[in-house]
Amino acid sequence: MITEFLKITGERENDESVIRRAADVIARGGLVAVPTETVYGLDGSALLDQSAHKIYEAKGRPSDNPLIVHIAYPSDAEKIAYTNEAYYRLAEKFMPGPLTIVLKKKDIIPDSVTGGLDSVAVRCPSNSVAHSLIEVSGHPIAAPSANRSGIPSPTKAEHVLDDMNGLIDMIIDGGECEIGLESTVIRLDGDGCTVLRP
Ligand code: AMP
Ligand code: MG
Repeated sequence: MITEFLKITGERENDESVIRRAADVIARGGLVAVPTETVYGLDGSALLDQSAHKIYEAKGRPSDNPLIVHIAYPSDAEKIAYTNEAYYRLAEKFMPGPLTIVLKKKDIIPDSVTGGLDSVAVRCPSNSVAHSLIEVSGHPIAAPSANRSGIPSPTKAEHVLDDMNGLIDMIIDGGECEIGLESTVIRLDGDGCTVLRP
């Protein structure tokens, strides 16, 4: 596979065309590496079995290790999960941003995305490239870190190119990730919550 490498330049016409091309790849079941505020994500459709399988294969990741699902706005979680008041209280403070919340999933999310779990991890990235791609795609995006299993999470497009060239359809270079660390993952249980990843 030839991996296309496209740059975000800050020019509107270029950047909109990059996002549109990436959305086309994702709609066809392909994979695109995309900058987020935490680390580069490997984006594929969260509604297609085929995309989840490709993500696991490209990463060399065991398929029982669930994928985080990115949405454009906190209320988009309604389409894919059962939300509650605590979710919206946290969303108000921390979304968009580097917080991932695990909720009970709805059937629209294939089991392949969640590694067979009946829950789904939901995040709303604040990075404008990641956000625009979700919006233009028009549906939730499965987005683990864009690295082969066992390799550190990439914070620059060049890291993704070194690690995944030939394994994915496209890399969008949107510069260095501001935070450089993976999102915090929490599970909401009843009134309390459990931190699954600090
Ligand atoms: P990565 O995609 O590489 O950033 O890693 C995703 C992290 O989120 C892993 O630690 C997963 O175990 C965790 N995760 C994703 N979905 C769920 C879920 N449904 N329940 C619990 N943890 C999850
Ligand atoms: Mg990872």
